[in-house]
Amino acid sequence: MQAATSHLMRAYARQPVSFVRGSGARLWDEQGMEYLDAIAGVAVTSLGHAHPEIAAVIAEQAGMLLHTSNVFRIDWQERLGERLCALTGMQKAFFCNSGAEANETALKLARLHGHRKQVAEPKILVMENGFHGRTIATLSATGNPAKQIGFEPLLPGFLRVPYNDIDAVRQAAEQSPDIVAVLIEPVQGEGGIRIAGADYLRELRALCDRHGWLLMLDEIQAGMGRTGAWFGHQHADIEPDVMTLAKALGNGFPIGACLARGAAADLFSPGQHGSTFGGNPLACRVACTVLDIMARDGMPQRAAVLGARLLTGLQKALGKHPNVLAIRGQGLMAGIEMDSSCKELVGRALEEERLLVTVTRDTTIRLLPPLICDEAQIDDIVARVARLLSSIPALSRVSPAEPDAAMQAECVR
Ligand code: PLP
Repeated sequence: MQAATSHLMRAYARQPVSFVRGSGARLWDEQGMEYLDAIAGVAVTSLGHAHPEIAAVIAEQAGMLLHTSNVFRIDWQERLGERLCALTGMQKAFFCNSGAEANETALKLARLHGHRKQVAEPKILVMENGFHGRTIATLSATGNPAKQIGFEPLLPGFLRVPYNDIDAVRQAAEQSPDIVAVLIEPVQGEGGIRIAGADYLRELRALCDRHGWLLMLDEIQAGMGRTGAWFGHQHADIEPDVMTLAKALGNGFPIGACLARGAAADLFSPGQHGSTFGGNPLACRVACTVLDIMARDGMPQRAAVLGARLLTGLQKALGKHPNVLAIRGQGLMAGIEMDSSCKELVGRALEEERLLVTVTRDTTIRLLPPLICDEAQIDDIVARVARLLSSIPALSRVSPAEPDAAMQAECVR
């Protein structure tokens, strides 16, 4: 393994491994060593690496037309907008290049909505432990002080409440007449795989209706089939006013989308928002192909079945592990919460098990396997994680941990 180049800014704590080739859920490094990918580029390559249909579409479109700018009508952008609206029940789309930009779009919509309601300083309700991106606005919306520190002053206009706590939202509504929108992830991914309860989301929807707030769902990590439904909020049978997508929408080709319906769909007027690269023919054609493949191959259903297998396997293998506090999951989003910092497991998993995992919030091992995994690969992920954790000395806990019963119920619903 070689050291990372020193000419890159130190924004990442990189592992000393570089992959040169992938296929499905497998990756190969420079030495030809094979790895099993249980993070899918952090919920991006849901259809696996080097998907032949996506590769073919990229090559064909690159040979025809990459970019014209949004000064002109872009046919593939129109088609993708139509496809996504048909799939989601939303009415209008704006395309950009990343999740943070999609959320920036949502935040701008919320402010326009507020000003339309004559609220001079509109406030957006956001959640503790939430993650919405690294731009200044999305970082300000993010509920993780560790990521915000050093970047003050953060933007004003956000009110933060605990996740999954409807009384806190009611209280905020009473105290702050300037709230105009709520931004929330149906499953907090960076936050350690925390799942919003279905009743909570339904009550949140009702509160938004009562107060005229926009319900804005960040589906950037949980969307595109990963939780076992096309979108995470569908488990609660609700409809958002605004919804953001990125990550798996392009299966690795950069694209973000902000979708809106009702009043939120027509807030922008020409010139108020834009993106040089956003919605280019190549990105939009790739996303259309991703949608085609996901629908044809029943990816959301597959994620539900494989996700149940993954969680059952993890519970069986690790439910009584002395250092495991909880095992949470929905579809192929799974988190194993440990009783102390376990960041070093990312490197150990690579070296000892040839397995890609992430650790979030210091103590939660996060598994986001590609949705194209087969059953044997899911079982293999469980076996490798179990082997990895078998060598952790049982230091800090005296009695064996019970799995998190509430979350377990949630995931097998
Ligand atoms: N929102 C959520 C829920 C995310 O998980 C992420 C990235 O991890 C983002 C927003 C930011 O997306 P991007 O890194 O594409 O800007």
